[in-house]
Amino acid sequence: MILQSRSAFAIPVFAAVFSLMSAGRCVGADWSEQDLAAAAALRDKAMSGTRAFEHVSSLVTEVGPRPAGSPGDAAAVRWAMNRLGSLGFSHVHTQDVLVPHWVRGSAEVSIVTPFPQTLVATSIGGSVGTPDEGIEAQVLNATSLDALSALPPASVKGRIVFIDERMQRARDGSGYGATVRNRSQGPSVAADLGAVALVIRSVGTSDDRIAHTGGLNYRADAPRIPAFAISNPDADLLARQLQPGKPVRMRLKSTARELPPAWSANVIGEIPGHDRPQEIVLLAAHLDSWDLAQGAIDDGAGVAIVTEAARLISKLDRPPARTVRVVLFANEEFGTSGGREYARLAGDEIARHVLALEADFGAGPVWRIESRVAAESLPAIAAMQSVLAPVDVASGANTGDPGSDIRPLMNAGVPILDLTLDGTKYFDVHHTVNDTLLKVDSKALDQSVAAFAVAAYLAATKQGDFGRVAVEVK
Ligand SMILES: [Zn+2]
Repeated sequence: MILQSRSAFAIPVFAAVFSLMSAGRCVGADWSEQDLAAAAALRDKAMSGTRAFEHVSSLVTEVGPRPAGSPGDAAAVRWAMNRLGSLGFSHVHTQDVLVPHWVRGSAEVSIVTPFPQTLVATSIGGSVGTPDEGIEAQVLNATSLDALSALPPASVKGRIVFIDERMQRARDGSGYGATVRNRSQGPSVAADLGAVALVIRSVGTSDDRIAHTGGLNYRADAPRIPAFAISNPDADLLARQLQPGKPVRMRLKSTARELPPAWSANVIGEIPGHDRPQEIVLLAAHLDSWDLAQGAIDDGAGVAIVTEAARLISKLDRPPARTVRVVLFANEEFGTSGGREYARLAGDEIARHVLALEADFGAGPVWRIESRVAAESLPAIAAMQSVLAPVDVASGANTGDPGSDIRPLMNAGVPILDLTLDGTKYFDVHHTVNDTLLKVDSKALDQSVAAFAVAAYLAATKQGDFGRVAVEVK
């Protein structure tokens, strides 16, 4: 499947690149023959083995869970400073970021009647806790957020709402986009209608008894009610008890609470450009994680991919013309504080960001290259894809997803590249107790490093830029 779509796009690109190269130099083109050869060598070097697994192993072993504002978060900032420094990055520094500080405490969810059972559950990130005595009420189930929104308030008032919508598995993660609203917006929608608490089927694809956390977004004008996610098998169990239509009562207890905001930091390091050091190609990942496990795939893998891609570029005999800047962002998970602060502090420097890429979708492999660049730059994206075709990276559309940390830059006109990581199994692990090093495949990680390194190097050596993208109204 992939081979077919890849070759369909790759052949004309190869032809175009080679016809330009046949004159010895790519006159009027984006790259010289030597640039393209260096990129291909970089790809092959990464495929033969990188230090990316070592980076993610170090982060999860020496730091572990690092939710925003926690001691682990502060330790992660120190770890990243040391790591980038010891790997030879230049201008290693931090950017202070104020982050929310939420603590999970304990969570208990059980069915009281008709058939008492304890369920595997987790508080949704940012949820308020319950009163000390807990909350007990009859359950009202809804098949989706839209179905819940359509219910009359009288039927919801005083109930525990259960949103029972299953996330579908997909390589591009599209099932997440379709169901994540249940978690992020569900609490305020339910509260608006008079619910006393919300329980959702986990936004995740695992069949195991593990619950998937993630952030919620309380609306300022809605009451704040406690919100929980239960594992897929436990959601099935609850659904079966609800099926006969007889009243089901649940009991919920949580000690989650919000502490005062805390300081965290974006950690930044650079591989300086040789000819145009003021122009920046940005490689992004996020340093924070949820608290249930060590955050190996979310986003330790991304940290490792972009760090190692830049390190490999720094070892080349032909340094990039532009600066390759690695930014490990603070608090992506609960409000993208770091991404927003970076864009705010960048100010006029945003105009000098030539291209931005983020790795925040697991350990790979990369299977597709998408973009958001000016139309005139699409041949350059196609040429990048032709260098990556031998490692099974296919062409994609010019409607790529930037990743949440660099979205504010894209919204300010910065072109982005979306090297799509394979998300088929990502949501089995995402935001759960299973997000451990065991889920990181070092070969896939190396291939991802190859893709990010090639793309960043070519972006940093390209003759012209990638134009600007239309500013999105948010
Ligand atoms: Zn992430």
